[in-house]
Amino acid sequence: MQALIQIKLEKITNEFIEHANTAITNANKVVILTHKNPDGDALGSGLAMWHFFKSLQKEVTFLVPNQLPTNLFWMPGMAEILVYEENKEKGKLTIASSDLLVMVDFNHHSRLSEAGNHVMNHKAPKILIDHHPNPEPIADLIYSRVSSSSTAEMVFEFIQKTRGEEYISRAIADCLFVGIMTDTGSFSYNSSEPHTYEVVGKLLSKGVNKDELTDKVYNNFSEHRLRLMGYAVNQRMVVLPEFQTAYIYLTKKDLEDYKHEPGDTEGFVNYPLSIRNIVFTAIFIEKDNYTKCSFRSKGNFPANLVSMNHFNGGGHKNAAGGESKMSIQESMEKFESILPLYKHLLIQ
Ligand code: 5GP
Ligand code: MN
Repeated sequence: MQALIQIKLEKITNEFIEHANTAITNANKVVILTHKNPDGDALGSGLAMWHFFKSLQKEVTFLVPNQLPTNLFWMPGMAEILVYEENKEKGKLTIASSDLLVMVDFNHHSRLSEAGNHVMNHKAPKILIDHHPNPEPIADLIYSRVSSSSTAEMVFEFIQKTRGEEYISRAIADCLFVGIMTDTGSFSYNSSEPHTYEVVGKLLSKGVNKDELTDKVYNNFSEHRLRLMGYAVNQRMVVLPEFQTAYIYLTKKDLEDYKHEPGDTEGFVNYPLSIRNIVFTAIFIEKDNYTKCSFRSKGNFPANLVSMNHFNGGGHKNAAGGESKMSIQESMEKFESILPLYKHLLIQ
């Protein structure tokens, strides 16, 4: 199948719909892809796409680079996901035999880890739907809207405008709702556009049970995870009032002591933002060969700039992440050492 022409848009136009529909119709073997350490929006968007292509009778695989968060195991379709790190040969073959690649919730091939090179080298048409800033030109059809609450909101539009709203099944609606809810912190940020609520209204009319999904997402952790949260805040939080900044760190031993499961530390980085006057937070988590870093901010402080400039990362202005090759100790020292560079932006 021929590659599509490259179109990058902030809005779904008729031209985009036409090309997307051709790509959908011509495809037989579809691979859906999302970023490593997937969160609710990555999984919700990817699973919704997976259900959509299944309903079109396509052979479809949802390929995720690594570990899936335990608290979201119940999401419809989760058991069918192919985790690249757990079965690399199958992952490579699946990518190589696909005739359409649909990428959601990321915009740089490095976010796919090792699978990224195989995806980039494969010549099938590629569609990218994402809301992160500065997309790399990694697809033929790119729908990139940074102001969107979530990728899930954009996947709704994609399905609605290509095949029609009747293709939003209950399972798809549940997945998309989880994506929008988790990426907006239950509608507390990135959710001031009326359009988000129009989409949510449509999802509710498809039968989404908001209270039940909220319970399943947020009240579905182990006892150890809650104790780890208490420990992190009590013993592993450093507050730097002179920079209106606070950070948390967790060592490998901390995680082992509290029988850590994938997804357990998701959201911890937000807690220090509840301290009055704190506008910038970070978490450093010790991994085998690197340190995982996450950053959050309030207002105008660009967390993504810090992540990009010093921690090999990126993301949104108020929510960013990265990976540091330094040890956890060195990462924390580096973080403290660069804060004076940003003091004029931090002190608001
Ligand atoms: P988190 O801190 O939850 O891992 O990620 C927060 C945001 O930053 C997400 O939107 C995520 O896509 C982005 N992000 C996380 N890690 C990385 C990374 O290593 N590189 C880039 N470019 N973005 C990241
Ligand atoms: Mn997202």
